[in-house]
Amino acid sequence: MSFASLGLSAPLLAAIQAEGYDTPSPIQAQAIPAVLAGRDLMAAAQTGTGKTAGFTLPLLQRLAEGKPASANQARALILTPTRELAAQVGDSVVRYGSRLPLRSTIVFGGVKINPQMQKLRKGVDILIATPGRLLDLYQQNAVRFSELEVLVLDEADRMLDMGFIRDIRKILALLPKQRQNLLFSATFSNDIRALAKTMVNNPLEVSVSPANSTAERVEQLVYPVDKNRKAQLLIDLIVDNHWQQVLVFTKTKHGANKLTKQLEAVGLQAAAIHGNKSQGARTKALAGFKSGEVRVLVATDIAARGLDIDQLPQVVNFDLPNVPEDYVHRIGRTGRAGASGHAVSLVCADDAKLLRDIERLIRQAIPRQQQAGYEPVHPLPASGPLQPSSKPRRPKKPKPQREHRDGQRAEGSAQAKARSQHRRPARGSNAS
Ligand code: AMP
Repeated sequence: MSFASLGLSAPLLAAIQAEGYDTPSPIQAQAIPAVLAGRDLMAAAQTGTGKTAGFTLPLLQRLAEGKPASANQARALILTPTRELAAQVGDSVVRYGSRLPLRSTIVFGGVKINPQMQKLRKGVDILIATPGRLLDLYQQNAVRFSELEVLVLDEADRMLDMGFIRDIRKILALLPKQRQNLLFSATFSNDIRALAKTMVNNPLEVSVSPANSTAERVEQLVYPVDKNRKAQLLIDLIVDNHWQQVLVFTKTKHGANKLTKQLEAVGLQAAAIHGNKSQGARTKALAGFKSGEVRVLVATDIAARGLDIDQLPQVVNFDLPNVPEDYVHRIGRTGRAGASGHAVSLVCADDAKLLRDIERLIRQAIPRQQQAGYEPVHPLPASGPLQPSSKPRRPKKPKPQREHRDGQRAEGSAQAKARSQHRRPARGSNAS
């Protein structure tokens, strides 16, 4: 199958070619014709499936066929849970739409609102936003929705987990009833289905799952170790194996900071990236990591969701994620584009259950390796049978966070509830 056969126009086909994409991914093959035809869509698709192009390409095409936006209007609204995801989607919009006369801009919290208000003044065809900042802009009359044609909710499950449901409902109430709705979510829990019911109309339902294939591509190992010896084991692994570019995941921001200091104390160049860091600090840390100046990047899941680092050789789970799907997201950072990758997890006895849940999800027992000198005092029990549990586990729903308006500040809550993400860093607002 080719992109041309999906009904995309010449400017978009040229952009796709420039990106080097030959064949539509499964989500693209299903979503693109449906979106072009004006249908609503409910898609179960994670990062790495090509979902962003799946909605961005047909969206651009539809918008290019209509009238430009009037002052302060947005014709398409893409809502994302985090600033990183907003920036990444905005970046895709600019790249794929570079040959079309469409304007886009990105708005998120944690940065000055005035420049965002100015960008909205002339109206935009595509507005990419985090929910809290969008509401602030609306309250200040900077944006209007009477010309809105399309709503995209990206990573809807994250938005609910981060407590954005009230904001989303408020936003939905501001939009014209007649519109196209595209809803993307890694999973379709009852909560997402309840939200979808209020949003979509006779949607095409699409589901793609990269979980098993990702897990199969990446060489994985578990190192049993006591909790208090993890940092030293990590240092030994980095030094002994001469790892030059390591992405390390910790559960908390505090944990990321502490580990970064421990690594620096032994002379390993490290930087932490998480929601308490300013956008500038995050961008700097990532640039240092990409250039090789920073050898170890320590990230929380939410911050890491924005990272676009292809063919990363080494991922370390310093802490296992509480949500098994996040393990697949994390190790998906490595072994991309056909390159082989390695993912190691430092697992203490307390995390035996998390490990078992992950192994059930990926339907494989992760090989264990005992590093000499790190035999745990509290042994890590065997994982047992791998049949999926009859009831899929969902994390407890966090309370809505009314005062927490942007992706960054909601991170504390999300971490507490242990949902997590990967994405690319912000590059500021864009207009194409
Ligand atoms: P996403 O799931 O939207 O985050 O996309 C994952 C990655 O796949 C991104 O780096 C895209 O640039 C890339 N990608 C998207 N569509 C294709 C395609 N059809 N062929 C190859 N790579 C793609």
